[in-house]
Amino acid sequence: MSTGSRYLHTAVCSPPYRTLTYAVPPHLADISWAKGLRVIIPMGNSLRAAVVVDTNAEPPSGVECKEILWPLEHVPTTGEVFIDLAQNLSIRQMEPVGRILSNILPQKLRILPKHFLVNSGSSPRIVTLKELRGASVHEQEKLARLWAQNAMLPATGPGKLRTMVSLAVDPPWQLRPNAKREIAVMEYLFNRGTCSKPEMLATLGKNVGPAVNALARKEMLILREERDTPECSSPGQDFSFESCQLLCPSSEQSTALDVLSKDLERDEYCTRLLHGITGSGKTLVYHQLAARCLAQGKSVFLLAPEVALASALYASTRKALPTANVLLYHGYLATAARDAAFTQAACAKPTVIIGTRSALFLPVANPGLYILDEEHDESFKQEDRLNYQAKEIAYFLAKYHKALLLLGSATPDLKTFHAARSGALDTLTLSHRVGGGSLPAIRLIDTAGLKADEPLAPQSLDRLEEVIRSGGQAIIMLNRRGYAPLMYCLNCEQAVTCPHCRVGMTYHKARERLICHYCGYTLPFPTFCPDCGQNTFVPMGGGTEQLEEKLPSLLPENTSILRLDRDTTRRQERMDTILADFAAQKAQVLIGTQMLSKGHHFPEVRLVVAAEGDLGLNLPDYRAAERTFQLMVQVSGRAGRGDHPGEVFIQTRNPGHPFWQFVLEADYQAFYEREIGLRERFAYPPFVKLGLIRMNYPLDWPEGGQIILEMAKTLREAAKRSGLKLLGPAPAPLAQIRGRKRFQCLVKGKNWKDIRALYAQALRLQPNNGKLRLQLDLDPVNML
Ligand code: ADP
Ligand code: ZN
Repeated sequence: MSTGSRYLHTAVCSPPYRTLTYAVPPHLADISWAKGLRVIIPMGNSLRAAVVVDTNAEPPSGVECKEILWPLEHVPTTGEVFIDLAQNLSIRQMEPVGRILSNILPQKLRILPKHFLVNSGSSPRIVTLKELRGASVHEQEKLARLWAQNAMLPATGPGKLRTMVSLAVDPPWQLRPNAKREIAVMEYLFNRGTCSKPEMLATLGKNVGPAVNALARKEMLILREERDTPECSSPGQDFSFESCQLLCPSSEQSTALDVLSKDLERDEYCTRLLHGITGSGKTLVYHQLAARCLAQGKSVFLLAPEVALASALYASTRKALPTANVLLYHGYLATAARDAAFTQAACAKPTVIIGTRSALFLPVANPGLYILDEEHDESFKQEDRLNYQAKEIAYFLAKYHKALLLLGSATPDLKTFHAARSGALDTLTLSHRVGGGSLPAIRLIDTAGLKADEPLAPQSLDRLEEVIRSGGQAIIMLNRRGYAPLMYCLNCEQAVTCPHCRVGMTYHKARERLICHYCGYTLPFPTFCPDCGQNTFVPMGGGTEQLEEKLPSLLPENTSILRLDRDTTRRQERMDTILADFAAQKAQVLIGTQMLSKGHHFPEVRLVVAAEGDLGLNLPDYRAAERTFQLMVQVSGRAGRGDHPGEVFIQTRNPGHPFWQFVLEADYQAFYEREIGLRERFAYPPFVKLGLIRMNYPLDWPEGGQIILEMAKTLREAAKRSGLKLLGPAPAPLAQIRGRKRFQCLVKGKNWKDIRALYAQALRLQPNNGKLRLQLDLDPVNML
């Protein structure tokens, strides 16, 4: 290699996700190499797509360095900031940068082009990657000149046509029990949502192909052709502030807006907490602020924890800001739609991006405002695939772009509120409901005497009847989906449990199945008991599905009931319909899980019943009280948002518990004071940093337990030396999942670095037979 060569670090976006050094060949020396630029590199005998992560690398000593084959773009689609972000996450999560990038870049940016199209001479010609690789130096120099003139372009072909398959009907499905393949296809789609046919055949086997076609003929499935070459469609329209139909803000809203508008104008990074009680009109503040940000020529991120809430925000934003570019983005969009959004975000005019956590990874050029609504919600943390907390990503990006980060909630995360109290961020408060309405009156209903098969107390039923008869609407929240959490065999005197997880299997009546909510294992039901061969099952406990079945006989005749939970909303259209029908008062009662507790605005809801208020309060998790408080205040907040005052009945078996006092008064401050005292006393966040080291091993490896104990002994000593506290190992509350025994160690420390260092040591102690798996969860939201 001649001296003066340039070297680049590139992160490979496919396994094994390594970061490798490559030399820039002389004919590509003039390219403006930048962080984030996508390139083709040779690796072994194959070619890979990779991303430049460092443009001034040192040549590796002692080994020959391969050369970059070709760039894939002239300017990075993802700005430099995304590489910084990926590197930051890489350190934090102890994962390779390439793996992080593979999770945040859309598919089309992670794959190799099929070939290049070269426009020289009379007609364009195709240069395949193989030809490019085999070309002579002279030929490559010629191509490099064409590349520089924009006469050589990567092409993915005419855009692959893919057949997308989605469900057309909800369970129960009218299929014969022996139509095994058809049932498998329907179950697959129910669990996974819309997916491409090739992807499905790859998982279920090619021989389900005829079943797919048969189901489509029966109109139980929808097949749709989709082309995946989204181009930047429109440059977007011009935004005009005057055209917005914005309501006149209340005095509290104006005060908050004055402060926030000044923050926006300052062009400096700043975080604010908008603490506004339920129904205080936080959305109007978001809309007005968004309008101001767009008028400054900058984009806005407006994020919600769930798809349903994001969709509702999308609708209300389109209405409030009719001339703004508004883009909806969430993880449930099909691949092609996600790719299209990515392209559009990168090239559109100032836009309001509305979505869930993953929308933060859209490469918007000039963001000025990040809003996280319901900031306390745990769904802002992603736990599968890539681990990240959206609040931290938003903080990172807002700082980089000198933007304003606004966190909104009626029940802020205790950590956020603590930070505000300690002066790290300023709080704006909305303490009144708009239009002078008041918060609903809350009553505790003692259910100690209620029979197991009675979901609602007589008082709750009486009031439900009154509300329905007077033309109002009601919400019943039961935070447990399915028909019954346990099916009990009277003959064996035990419940059916998942063979892989040792937990009770939930009965889903419409799907005619018992399902393990932890690993997804299913059994057909009705069935005979696997132990005694009899059919003497009774359901124990109840879920939303059972409540929906029982309720009609308990309520006035012709009461119309809707149900909203993960089972009824597998199809996005279905979720939109349920919410729209309830808003249009086509039903009087909406039953659902915590999904319906937050955000939604149904002015005719006069009564909210929380069927099992204690559920979740006694979980082995330091956040159990905080979470239950947030849930109860949020769900209460759905009542009385219109002209009629609202009422809330919380059914509990333990009305004497001191916790309820805070809920009854919806007194966030008082709850905060008590809870923060406990956190300090028992050394929990925000007073310490918390990491959970999860360890699991297969059942057929009995020595696993002993090895964990020995590892923990070494770790405990190391922890002591670095001022950390290590608790455990203890069996996880769910001691077995998917046929693996689970243990965990809780680590408390002053900073993340020490906790990561301890985990790195755990990895070094890990036996290398692949049986023991370790995982580090920083600031875990799920301790089970
Ligand atoms: P939350 O703070 O719970 O998010 P919302 O933003 O959903 O409250 O507002 C509740 C209702 O009040 C909405 O219907 C909204 O249109 C209405 N609203 C908010 N601000 C005003 C206002 N200044 N004047 C009139 N109605 C308002
Ligand atoms: Zn299971």
